[in-house]
Amino acid sequence: MIKYSLSCDNGHSFEGWFSTSADFDQQVASGFLTCPTCNSAAISKSLMAPSVSTARKKEAKQQMAMDIARREAMAKLREAVNHIRSNAEDVGERFPEEARKIHYGEADARGIIGEASLADVRELIDEGIEIAPCRIFPTKGIEFFWGRDLSDLGGA
Ligand SMILES: [Zn+2]
Repeated sequence: MIKYSLSCDNGHSFEGWFSTSADFDQQVASGFLTCPTCNSAAISKSLMAPSVSTARKKEAKQQMAMDIARREAMAKLREAVNHIRSNAEDVGERFPEEARKIHYGEADARGIIGEASLADVRELIDEGIEIAPCRIFPTKGIEFFWGRDLSDLGGA
C-alpha cells in the first residue's frame, strides 16, 4: 500500500491509500476518487515536502562539493606559492632590508622571499610596501614574499 497526500481543485487536502501508483491513476481517471469534503473528482497528488533525511543528504552533498572546491583552491594556492618560490630570490633574514631597497628603487625589482618578524612586517606595511605571507614555519616564523605583482599569488 502507498499513502498519498492528495488535494482537490478546491484546495481541500486529504490522504488516500492505494495498492500501487497505477491504482491511484486508474481511480482518478475513472472518477472513482472524490474529495471527502466537496465531492470533487479533480484530485491530484500534493507536492510532498522533502523528508529530513533527503534534506540532510543534500546538505552533505553540498558540504562535499564545498570541501572539494576548497581543496582545489588550496592546491592552486600551493602551486602559485611554489611557482613564486622557484622564481624568487631567497634573501633569508635580509628580507625586510631587501624589500625596502626594491621598494625605493635601490635594488633591482624582483620577487624575493625571506623571513621577517612581526615588527618588521608592521614597519614595511606602514611604509606602503606590500608583502604577502608565503609559508609558515613552526620554528622559524613566517616566510614572506615580495613581488611587483602580488596578484601572482592568486593567479599563476
Ligand atoms: Zn474538495
